Amino acid sequence: MIPLCIPETRGNEWKYVKECIDTNWVSSVGSYVDLFEEKFAEYVKAEKAVVTMNGTAALQLALITLGIGEKDEVIVPSMTFISPVNTIKYVGAVPVFCDVCRDTFVMDAEKIEELITPKTKAIIPVHIYGHPVDMDKVMKIAEKYNLYVIEDATEALGSTYKGKMAGTIGHIGTYSFNGNKLITTGAGGMLVSDNLEYGKRAKYLSNQTKTILDNKGCYHEEVGYNFRMPNLLAAFGAAQLENVEEYLKTKRENAAYYNQLLKGVKGITISSEKECVKNCYWLYSVLVEDDYGISRDELIAKFEQEEIQTRPFFMPVHEMPPYKECKHGDMSVTKEICSRGINLPSSVSLTKKQIEAVCNVIKKYSK
Ligand SMILES: *Cc1c(COP(=O)(O)O)cnc(C)c1O
Repeated sequence: MIPLCIPETRGNEWKYVKECIDTNWVSSVGSYVDLFEEKFAEYVKAEKAVVTMNGTAALQLALITLGIGEKDEVIVPSMTFISPVNTIKYVGAVPVFCDVCRDTFVMDAEKIEELITPKTKAIIPVHIYGHPVDMDKVMKIAEKYNLYVIEDATEALGSTYKGKMAGTIGHIGTYSFNGNKLITTGAGGMLVSDNLEYGKRAKYLSNQTKTILDNKGCYHEEVGYNFRMPNLLAAFGAAQLENVEEYLKTKRENAAYYNQLLKGVKGITISSEKECVKNCYWLYSVLVEDDYGISRDELIAKFEQEEIQTRPFFMPVHEMPPYKECKHGDMSVTKEICSRGINLPSSVSLTKKQIEAVCNVIKKYSK
């Protein structure tokens, strides 16, 4: 079986986790929490990083930190994992859906402006499958209309846009360390910001706004949350982070090999990488066009027969029951690529032979 995307644990994971157990520092306070935050901030070059229990919590925390709430409109792509959309709902705000680009699969910055109303407060660009959104355009629009930008960089850890790490260009960026992401903590997330005030406020909110008063105990100035990550998981994350550059290098080599083998295969469109961008290729993806031999869904079934795990692109969120009444712009590209896109096996441990096996299945059914 060739899996879609499985974790790598070839580093100090066991050593650091064992240290937590041996010293009894297993819960939400501990040196690895601080270390993971510091090292992560250093890696992405952000002023401050705040660990959270998962990527969804990081997104929710970002919205709360920026004061986004009741009836505020937030622009988000429809072709995304549903997480960012749900968090908009959690804070009482309203998602407004934007279309994506056909060549990079991410939010089409050209289609944002037409969705803006006096109620718009924020934009959440999601760097789907690893390719960064055109952030210069997003930031320009945000500046013009005085909007916040929260980058969902969950799928783009290590990707860059004009030399800057994905997740550090907007006001706040978020990441996830779920098992299928570039690095994992089992479950976990991170919020980063270059604005120290946002960073500090996020940390404060994530820990029940707890303030210790001398001899009096815990004081809470406002409603807080428990979004913390335990030291055990932060230890695992700190070990994972030590290998992130190596994983990234392998992922990009694997993607280059896929590109080489699939270039020119009739009916298959390979993903493009814009010149100003470095894609981490979290999930290597292609589109199955009309002139390919069989449909996307049929191709997925063929892969299943060959015990190769693949995945169709995300289904449009604006068509799902909780969100089908929400406002959206033209969704023609979203609709099209959601039914054509396929994620191919993308684990760091993927071998050249396995990539060849995947590509041979694709070639076999090309007309
Ligand atoms: C995985 C993912 C998330 C959510 O992360 P969790 O840690 O599972 O909560 C958010 N956004 C995107 C785009 C994702 O792929």
